[in-house]
Amino acid sequence: MRLSQLFTKTSKTSPADEEARNAILLIQAGFIHKEMAGVYAYLPLGLRVLENIKQIVREEMDAVGGQELMMTTLQPRELWEKTNRWDDKIVDNWFKTKLASGIELGVGLTHEEPIVDALSSYISSYKDLPVTVYQIQNKFRNEKRAKSGLLRGREFVMKDMYTFARTQAEHDELYEQIAAAYSRVYSRLGIGDVTYRTAADGGYFTERFSDEYQTVSPIGEDTIYVDETKKIAINQEIYTDENLEKLGLNKADLVEKKSVEVGNIFPLESKYTDALGVQYTDDSGKKQSIIMGCYGIGISRLVGMLAEHFADDKGLVWPEAIAPAKVYLARLGIDEDVVKAADELYNSLQGAGIEVLYDDREDARPGEKFADADLMGIPYRVVISTKTVAAGTYELKHRTAADAEHVSHARLEEILHTVEASA
Ligand code: ATP
Ligand code: MG
Repeated sequence: MRLSQLFTKTSKTSPADEEARNAILLIQAGFIHKEMAGVYAYLPLGLRVLENIKQIVREEMDAVGGQELMMTTLQPRELWEKTNRWDDKIVDNWFKTKLASGIELGVGLTHEEPIVDALSSYISSYKDLPVTVYQIQNKFRNEKRAKSGLLRGREFVMKDMYTFARTQAEHDELYEQIAAAYSRVYSRLGIGDVTYRTAADGGYFTERFSDEYQTVSPIGEDTIYVDETKKIAINQEIYTDENLEKLGLNKADLVEKKSVEVGNIFPLESKYTDALGVQYTDDSGKKQSIIMGCYGIGISRLVGMLAEHFADDKGLVWPEAIAPAKVYLARLGIDEDVVKAADELYNSLQGAGIEVLYDDREDARPGEKFADADLMGIPYRVVISTKTVAAGTYELKHRTAADAEHVSHARLEEILHTVEASA
């Protein structure tokens, strides 16, 4: 991508109507556009980050047998009445709308009911199970406070997965496989070391715990107690002597931390499947309940969380796996040799599948180009100028390094072709 063509521009001034650092940085870097509180559009560079996160999640969900689908945003009222979740007194953050005829509709805030309904056409026998399906799509919630930038949106992107099993034991196995996939997702995103599987409330209909994935952060809304040795935590909401004992945790080993919920997995038993009358016939012809689980990841919350976590006083510092490009190629000047060398490197890197932001702008000073490379958080910056062309080298700097180094073409290709190991 050539910056001379990119319609977004960086901004030196912080947006007046934002308090959250993640939104401030992402707006200044031209990654997102604030439509209104809690509602953000993704511009080309922000969309790349979002898509990179989705792709990692998709690969890990596919690896545990997830089948991707896409559900609808418009929801029929009757479906939600069957499980008693339509009433605003029960679920208080619905957005609702109406057909021209006056018939009320819900605007999808979660998808347990519609998924069970869709699968009911295909699941009747024990031979049809187990099934794991997932989707990545926008959810709409009328959140009371939307002050944390992308962390709490009224319209936001979520990955939600659902499992359907024949027995509790079969469910438990799927649940643990998916928990392991969740750990891999957070490691690949570079926050594995600060993200804890956290025992949390399972809801009123089950004695079981749910598991939240909580990333330790000073901006977190949640409080958790972490056992650093066991690498697990317990949410303050269920922090009782009885629960500590059930989880085999000792008060003395726990450290209190603020955290952000980046994912959540839930045993649903047969609450929704039974309520919607979806069951299967076992091998002796008897009707049995289907055991369900649901598994969420806050995709857009992660964009905000990662922006917040990987940043310094100059701007964003993306890990390679999610950066909108691997290389920021800054061309200084318009000398024929410089343009030729920069164009050649751009073409050869792009040809090798390495994503490059090519700063070919003629009207930007070197200092502006360097500041933009830093603000956008691109992992590697390569400078081509009359000096580097004369010396036959390239100036290379990692976003987190203090100084640049001068390298040969061979060495440059070697470094840029290396895939960064994930945390
Ligand atoms: P929270 O406790 O933060 O309100 P939740 O428990 O309601 O979230 P789920 O319904 O389980 O969340 O949604 C799955 C995941 O979606 C959450 O773990 C979180 O990462 C993300 N998420 C939930 N609500 C929002 C929101 N308003 N904006 C952005 N992401 C969200
Ligand atoms: Mg929660």
